[in-house]
Amino acid sequence: MNRKKRVLLLGATGSIGRQTLDVLKRHPDEFELAGISAGHNEEALHEIAGEFDGIQAASVLEGNESRWTVPLFTGPDHVQKLMDAVNYDILVNAVVGFAGLAPTLRALETGHDVALANKESLVAGGQLVKKALAASGKKLYPIDSEHSAIWQCLQGSRQKDVNRLIITASGGSFRDRTRQSLENATPQEALKHPNWAMGRRITIDSATMVNKGFEVIEAHYLFDIPFDRIETVLHPQSIVHSMVEFQDGAVMAQLGSADMRLPIQYAL
Ligand code: NDP
Ligand code: MG
Repeated sequence: MNRKKRVLLLGATGSIGRQTLDVLKRHPDEFELAGISAGHNEEALHEIAGEFDGIQAASVLEGNESRWTVPLFTGPDHVQKLMDAVNYDILVNAVVGFAGLAPTLRALETGHDVALANKESLVAGGQLVKKALAASGKKLYPIDSEHSAIWQCLQGSRQKDVNRLIITASGGSFRDRTRQSLENATPQEALKHPNWAMGRRITIDSATMVNKGFEVIEAHYLFDIPFDRIETVLHPQSIVHSMVEFQDGAVMAQLGSADMRLPIQYAL
């Protein structure tokens, strides 16, 4: 490509958002940050805007427009206003929660590729997202580390040759605790993840293992594999990020350090 890929980043102030910014900073010849958005943290968003050239606009729920040198959209529909105003090639959706579904759909419906960290898009609206994908002919690239691993294991393979997807799980902060000792567990203990530094919501979901349930649903929609052929396995070291078993019994695994910048970079 002879011009830079323009990235619209939603959730710029979060864990995935900041790691995405780091990837962009390391590859200034390949990427341009076209737009940024946050939920509430206008201060941090404003700081980010000062670090990058080429930003066309920004958005946040509430903010002080007067100090911004680029247009700032605010209000309950700030993300939609931003997405309509910015020229971009790929959306990085790093919003947390259900609020991420509408932007995923909007990007696809307006003819854009999506790099997806917001797994809730698929958990809550997998069928809607698939419909939008099929209608747009655009691409959905996973950022979630397990799904990035599966996607990498599937390179060069045929869908009909896949037997099972095997999703690894670190087990989260409570993996070594007895059922009894969990009766007095605190949120602070749940927030101490042994392997990954992530946002609060996904760290809690890892402690309860709800995150792994979400990831099975996410894999089902991303790779078109029925639920009874998606398994999970506990792997406390977080070195193998997931595996694919093929019809001939061969298993492909993707290994790497526990650093989300790698799957972000692969998706971009
Ligand atoms: P964080 O809580 O760290 O960041 C969330 C981001 O979304 C923040 O920028 C926040 O803005 C913004 N935001 C929150 N609510 C809204 C809203 N209603 N509208 C617009 N923006 C909003 O989360 P993570 O970065 O950890 O997670 C983001 C997504 O990526 C989640 O779906 C998570 O499951 C997934 N994921 C995360 C991983 C990780 O390593 N962190 C790994 C794999 C998947 P503000 O700061 O202003 O509130
Ligand atoms: Mg994951």
